[in-house]
Amino acid sequence: MTQTAFARFRDAVLGGSRGAAAAALAFVYPPTCPGCQVLLGRHAGICGRCWSSLRFIVRPYCEVLGVPFSHDLGSGILSADAIANPPPFSRLRSAVVHDGLARTLVHGLKYRDRTDLAPMMAGWMARAGEALLSDCDAIVPVPLHHYRLLARKFNQASELARAIARQSGKPLLLGVLRRTRPTRQQIGLGANARRVNVQGAFSVTEAGRASLSGKRILLIDDVYTTGATVGAATRALRRGGAADVSVLTFARALADHI
Ligand SMILES: [Zn+2]
Repeated sequence: MTQTAFARFRDAVLGGSRGAAAAALAFVYPPTCPGCQVLLGRHAGICGRCWSSLRFIVRPYCEVLGVPFSHDLGSGILSADAIANPPPFSRLRSAVVHDGLARTLVHGLKYRDRTDLAPMMAGWMARAGEALLSDCDAIVPVPLHHYRLLARKFNQASELARAIARQSGKPLLLGVLRRTRPTRQQIGLGANARRVNVQGAFSVTEAGRASLSGKRILLIDDVYTTGATVGAATRALRRGGAADVSVLTFARALADHI
């Protein structure tokens, strides 16, 4: 199959059509487990062994930061971190701990063009952030700077946000938030360096102000590490008129997994 035919089939499937294009996709990407490559009977699945290795984040957790607690301390309990350093966003939820297969999925979506993984990942996110999703008026992805977007062709946060919007029926606001300057990759930077790296890196577009005014926004990103990126994006959204911002990410690095 030529590159163009491949792209056409893939786009047709990702665009939501089924049938012949889906069959062609199965031919190009045989349905394999994204974790261990074992053949599966259908697309967008995970084999049982890899599934059991995923660490889904469920209660008990901090009601603000969503960080899991090892013991159930009762409902509505906040972590010491949420009390000492209240974040700019109202609530944060993530579907899985960022290790093992979760890391492979994030990597596949980000660097290996596996946009076919986005609907499955978005489904897990929608479950983890069910309350945030039902309380929001619109969904906004963390944007990439256009230099990086050119190099990578698509924004992984937008792919996840688009799938969540499609599954939930909530409006997706693209182009309201932009990165005003390219930032260094956050990987390898400590918490302070990360904060400085993204400080003032986001702004709301002129058109974005009208769409954000008074709205409760659900901000989407692939991974939460120290919160520097979503913190800076939240501040920009609030300055741009959003009434409230909550954050939903696919994966979350825990202190011993950063
Ligand atoms: Zn597997």
